[in-house]
Amino acid sequence: MRVNRQRFRRAGLALGALLLLAVGAGYVVYREWRVPLLQRPVNEAIRRWFDDPAARDALATAFDAPCPGYPFLVPSSGFVGGLPWNAAYGPYNIFNPHPGIDIFGQSDLGTVPVRAAYDGWLTREADWVSSVIIRHDDPLNPGATIWTYYTHMANADGSADFIAAAFPPGARAVPVTRGQVIGYQGVYNGGPESRPVAMHVHFSIVKSDADGAYRNEAVFENTLDPSPYLGLTLNDADAPQFPLRCLPPP
Ligand SMILES: [Zn+2]
Repeated sequence: MRVNRQRFRRAGLALGALLLLAVGAGYVVYREWRVPLLQRPVNEAIRRWFDDPAARDALATAFDAPCPGYPFLVPSSGFVGGLPWNAAYGPYNIFNPHPGIDIFGQSDLGTVPVRAAYDGWLTREADWVSSVIIRHDDPLNPGATIWTYYTHMANADGSADFIAAAFPPGARAVPVTRGQVIGYQGVYNGGPESRPVAMHVHFSIVKSDADGAYRNEAVFENTLDPSPYLGLTLNDADAPQFPLRCLPPP
């Protein structure tokens, strides 16, 4: 009886130690690999763009006018859709895919123009360092209101922004026309403490609430696939081919 109890205690201790080890190892795996496990591998075109500057011309596109038959102008030049809408590549993942498109320019910081994608009314909230948002009558759904959002238009620490002087912080519903320069590509991503980003502009189409106010543009579900507005394959699920070429008119 006594022997059995001793064995039982020893087995219990061993089991407890094993459990502790397993939980510890599980935690380390979760902490170190949680995000990569959920992410798809990095898009090959993005790797080429950053690893081989000589390959950039073959990936870049400049759109001087909207694709024939489509309402929106591509708002900047460079590697258009380098990170497509709905992409689960880092820092995004399948639970939080990219809510817009990234356009990576090829020139100096603060010199690659960012243009209004469509006629509308531009707002820049008082505390927005590098972002503007434009309200539009939705050309694909007459009567509906959508917004286009543009961000990263400042230097890394936010001490200098590259937004056009006509749109100071607090600007509200300033009329703009398609193609009008609203700023220049930058690298601001929340300040010196934030993850650094390469120079680009992030562009997204944002849904509105019933009262017409824009929803939180950082939430994927609040955004729209930009492909039918721009006439380009920009949904990652549709496997965009770079450089992007205009789709046939709808
Ligand atoms: Zn982005």
